[in-house]
Amino acid sequence: MTPPTRTCIACGAKREKRELAHLLRNQRGIVIDMQEETQSRGAYLCKNGEQIDENYYQIAKQKGAFQKAFRAEKISLQKLQAASSAGGDPHGSR
Ligand SMILES: [Zn+2]
Repeated sequence: MTPPTRTCIACGAKREKRELAHLLRNQRGIVIDMQEETQSRGAYLCKNGEQIDENYYQIAKQKGAFQKAFRAEKISLQKLQAASSAGGDPHGSR
């Protein structure tokens, strides 16, 4: 069986889900879903280790892919990475 694939919003490559960073919107904004904790839609982006690859982030930004996926114009990479859902404090006290 072929595992299901997702399409990267930056380069359009189809990869296995676990090979891409899953971005989604939750109550804290746009975050990286590291724990695959939700089944919500969202967007997939090539990753570099455990973080989003900055180059692909830039490509996606230039293409307006975030706007398309989340109807949000400004998504900062730093904020996105800081808001990673892995082990984050849900109350954002940091
Ligand atoms: Zn990609």
